[in-house]
Amino acid sequence: MIYDLHSHTLASDGALSPAEFIAAAEQAGVDALAITDHDTVAGYSEWRALNKPSSVLVIPGIEFSTTWNGIGVHIVGLNINPASDAISSGSEMQLAARRERTSQIVERLRKAGLAVEEKALLEYAGTTAPGRPHIARYLVQQQLVKDESTAFKKYLGAGKAGDVKNLWANLATIIDWIRASGGTAVLAHPDKYQLTFSKLTRLSAEFAGLGGQAIEVISGQQLAATTERLARLAVAQGLLASVGSDFHQPGQPWAGLGRTGELPRGAAPVWDTWETRA
Ligand code: AMP
Ligand code: ZN
Ligand code: FE
Ligand code: FE
Repeated sequence: MIYDLHSHTLASDGALSPAEFIAAAEQAGVDALAITDHDTVAGYSEWRALNKPSSVLVIPGIEFSTTWNGIGVHIVGLNINPASDAISSGSEMQLAARRERTSQIVERLRKAGLAVEEKALLEYAGTTAPGRPHIARYLVQQQLVKDESTAFKKYLGAGKAGDVKNLWANLATIIDWIRASGGTAVLAHPDKYQLTFSKLTRLSAEFAGLGGQAIEVISGQQLAATTERLARLAVAQGLLASVGSDFHQPGQPWAGLGRTGELPRGAAPVWDTWETRA
């Protein structure tokens, strides 16, 4: 079975519509796929509304933004009930935070001398979940930077003008939303936070203490040594193991749809706990 439990569609900052995306997953031979757009289930809901049969088991998910000790952290909710009150109201709050964050970022970019118009930017983004990638693409389109990577390096990345992260719900709240909806809370891409192993261990322990259930032992294309290290961390903290590509668009070699690889022996796959609910 090929599981890919972290991915994005046009509903957030991905490039494919849900229908195009599921077709791509079928092509890639994925058996079970979680759609985990940033702070919204609109992409998953759009797919369900199409009522199209597929060889892919499509799992409802979401990726919530939060902070831990001032660091931006992402928590994936898998097998959530997208229609639950917890997810609807949680998502609504986070999307409001995204709108407010966009305004604040625009203001900061303008202060930095960039002629950015919020209304035009939001129209360009065309989503209820505007994020930094949309802003990066807009800056490129407006010829204010030469490419998206420069946009992050100069304006949007950690510590830069556009790095606004104080508006999200806190970690405990987000875990509660996910669990209240019957979902599994997963600490996303642990290797991306550039934490020392001891800090990552503290984050994982705190996450587990708040009811977090799993950690992404595999995220995209990563070193085998990283996978082994994260598998040991999962076991040590009593966390289940998840795998996901974090697919956003075709042609990204670091995040091939379904190319997630095998979990090390000893790690307990998150999907084993779902069997009884399927
Ligand atoms: P946001 O949800 O607005 O905080 O944006 C987070 C998304 O931005 C991530 O899921 C990545 O897709 C993208 N991203 C974050 N940092 C970078 C970077 N340095 N270069 C390119 N994309 C990035
Ligand atoms: Zn994203
Ligand atoms: Fe993420
Ligand atoms: Fe993601």
